[in-house]
Amino acid sequence: MPEGDTVFRAAARLRTALAGKTLTCCDVRVPRYATIDLSGERVDEVVCRGKHLFVRAGRASFHTHLKMEGVWHVYAPGERWRRPGFTARLILGTEDVTAVGFSLGKVEVLARDRDFDVVAHLGPDLLGPDWDRAEALRRLTADPDLPIGLAVLDQRNLAGIGNIFRNEGCWLARVHPRRPVGEIANLGELVDETQRILSDSARVRVHKPMVYGRAKMPCPRCRTTIRLEMFGEGPTRERSIYFCPRCQE
Ligand SMILES: [Zn+2]
Repeated sequence: MPEGDTVFRAAARLRTALAGKTLTCCDVRVPRYATIDLSGERVDEVVCRGKHLFVRAGRASFHTHLKMEGVWHVYAPGERWRRPGFTARLILGTEDVTAVGFSLGKVEVLARDRDFDVVAHLGPDLLGPDWDRAEALRRLTADPDLPIGLAVLDQRNLAGIGNIFRNEGCWLARVHPRRPVGEIANLGELVDETQRILSDSARVRVHKPMVYGRAKMPCPRCRTTIRLEMFGEGPTRERSIYFCPRCQE
């Protein structure tokens, strides 16, 4: 599942492709919005918040979420699409580019002046210009009994983290994902490290996991074999955790 860094990079690509340009094509392939056509409107901004992406044009805002398999591509005129056409959910074209959102988990057309209402519940955005570390720590510790591996995935606490970065952040801070938040002395360090790697992955180069997806391989720090377990609030909500049983307590 794409995380905040992927959405941040997609927003940057779309901003370069569309911002300041007039839409010549607008195709929303969602029944509810199928008649909406913003051709002739100028794209003013492309912004993201957590894992949510907004393309603002005229008085409307296209709100999208990649969810499990969504991806944005930008094509030159006449260029062949690299995904099947039937998976396209939103197509926004200008004279010189076409941006196509494939398999998007969510597509909505909102009133531009109220578009951020749909992200009002989110916690501080790890990649946002208004990143608020103190508020993030306050939210994370609101339930001290909650395991950190669940607390950091809740977008109401921190916006932008998914399964890769929760595992990586815990490993960097040497904290076991099952440890209750209230018992973690270096929670600030865990948040800082997670913010640092997510930000690097968004702005510099795509993060190469140290524990995520590396079950049975050696821990990069102590060479102990990395363990994989399933963990979640209930049997239907379990997701994988990767950790070093030696250096994460
Ligand atoms: Zn280790």
